[in-house]
Amino acid sequence: MNKFELLGLNDALLQAIKDMGFETPSEVQEKAIPILLQEDTDMVALAQTGTGKTAAFGFPLIQKIDVDSRKTQGLILSPTRELCLQITNELKNYSKYFKGLNTVAIYGGASITDQAAQIKKGAQIIVATPGRMQDMVNRRLVDISAIQYCILDEADEMLNMGFYEDITEILSHTPKEKSTWLFSATMPKEVSTIAKKFMRTPVEITVGTKNMGTSNVSHEYYVINARDRYAALKRLADANPDIFSVIFCRTKRDTQKVAEQLIEDGYNAAALHGDLSQNQRDLVMKSFRARQIQMLVATDVAARGIDVDDITHVINYQLPDEIETYTHRSGRTGRAGKSGVSMVIVSKSEARKIKGIERIIGQSFERKEIPDGREICEVQLFHLANEISKTEINHEIDKYLPSIAELFEGLTKEELLKKFFSVEFTRFFNYYNNAQDLNAKGSTEVYEDEGDSTRFFINVGAKDDFDWMSLKDFLKATLDLGKDDVNRVEVKDSFSFFNVDSSKAEEVIRIFQDFKHQGRHINVEITKKSAGKERSGGRRGGGGYKGKDKGERSFDKPSRGGDKGLRRSSDSPASGKRRSSDAGTGGRKGKKSGGRSSSIESSIKRRRSKK
Ligand code: ADP
Ligand code: MG
Repeated sequence: MNKFELLGLNDALLQAIKDMGFETPSEVQEKAIPILLQEDTDMVALAQTGTGKTAAFGFPLIQKIDVDSRKTQGLILSPTRELCLQITNELKNYSKYFKGLNTVAIYGGASITDQAAQIKKGAQIIVATPGRMQDMVNRRLVDISAIQYCILDEADEMLNMGFYEDITEILSHTPKEKSTWLFSATMPKEVSTIAKKFMRTPVEITVGTKNMGTSNVSHEYYVINARDRYAALKRLADANPDIFSVIFCRTKRDTQKVAEQLIEDGYNAAALHGDLSQNQRDLVMKSFRARQIQMLVATDVAARGIDVDDITHVINYQLPDEIETYTHRSGRTGRAGKSGVSMVIVSKSEARKIKGIERIIGQSFERKEIPDGREICEVQLFHLANEISKTEINHEIDKYLPSIAELFEGLTKEELLKKFFSVEFTRFFNYYNNAQDLNAKGSTEVYEDEGDSTRFFINVGAKDDFDWMSLKDFLKATLDLGKDDVNRVEVKDSFSFFNVDSSKAEEVIRIFQDFKHQGRHINVEITKKSAGKERSGGRRGGGGYKGKDKGERSFDKPSRGGDKGLRRSSDSPASGKRRSSDAGTGGRKGKKSGGRSSSIESSIKRRRSKK
């Protein structure tokens, strides 16, 4: 028996579920659906983005609606127009075997008269953004006096966006006797206030941990000088040749600007923000889904509706104003059981916010360095080698082979390989030769306001099969300390760092005196406070520190030159592979659908050529 059947869903829904190809219910669905079907109760459900919340309320709602009545019985409030349309679409799919069930979307930026007309025809379910809904209620274009089910979807985000008053207003027009279901990814104070105010003893459902970011996602941050932000972004992209990413900017303007620069530099990029027409946005999303766009630069609001699995990286080009928003950003990756990386590019002055975010997501960040030119060249070289080894031979080439072979007569295999790879390698090498180190120097302490905490060095690391979590566990157990007493665990290859409250520092040293782990002598030492200084180390001598650090590499990092002001021509590194496979669609389509204006484009060119 199908697991959906066990939840109590009827045949019309089960058939639609089958059509959509859903095989097993997600956790939030499994927990919410039976309760919502059997009882008339209020509910608060907390689950991360991408966990299937729409169906968790959508299935029971549809099953409970009386199709014979044309009255509006269900109201779903959702923060943005994108989400509103997405939910409406999903509900229409779910209810395709329910004859006479009408779901209507109500949102700003479209004709209010058209929407009113649709409602007049009879809409048992309305999916609305709070602003437009409030407007229509005031103008008496909708009647919600008989609704039985009210769903607040992405409640945290609605409140983030300042819809508290609209929501309160709208709810005051609904009957007292109804069920209210609140769905949210996080549970900030404001959400629990709403729950208290509008709900009666709600059933609480939590999937995963409260307030937790997506656990399949690892979080990294990079400290740079603000002027190097864009160059850093490009390095991150170049160091991840298979990147399929959403890049978040704070404003529409920055979103557009960064996308344009990326396109100019030969990346398959496009912008997604509220100034684009719906049609333009649909085009961008279509290209993104089809992977013609590898880097989608978006504002928070525009990205809310993105439901694309397989996103490998989320890059916070700028941190959001509200750090709570970070959860929504990072939740774009690590979906559907896949793992993902959320990267944050921060300047020194912003670095302190990382700590606040860690608290919200309940996970630690790993501080990473913007890769240098040599690393990128290596990554690209091996990426290419890998691609070539996987490539199927195209026998159309056979007929040209004799003449090609003639050209290379007398070359050994090794010489041939060297020549062949030099074609690509030289391109990246020339571009990145003399590239600057983009990592901010000097004190970049993220935890400056941490108070009295002591940082330790320990001579075990990734080589000893530790990651930050297992090392933290090991330290907690060894030192007999509580959950929050060991923090800032940072694991390097053969050594690591961690912090412990200064009052316990002596004890830490004492415990680790003559301590052995798997037969190895463990060396723990107090380090200097500044993160910047730690990295310049080598002083420390033991622990295999020497020769492991990137600083030991011989690659030149002259102080002048580098990425800034350099423009990739059409045969530049980024454009080579990316554009060749889908010329005319990827980058170019991105250009068009990104709605770039030629004046901005040319001003970028002007600025570049001045350098
Ligand atoms: P959330 O609202 O929690 O962010 P959604 O409801 O938008 O998540 O669902 C995310 C994606 O997962 C959607 O594309 C949806 O169609 C799909 N989905 C939902 N439930 C299931 C399921 N049981 N099996 C497979 N896919 C599902
Ligand atoms: Mg949702």
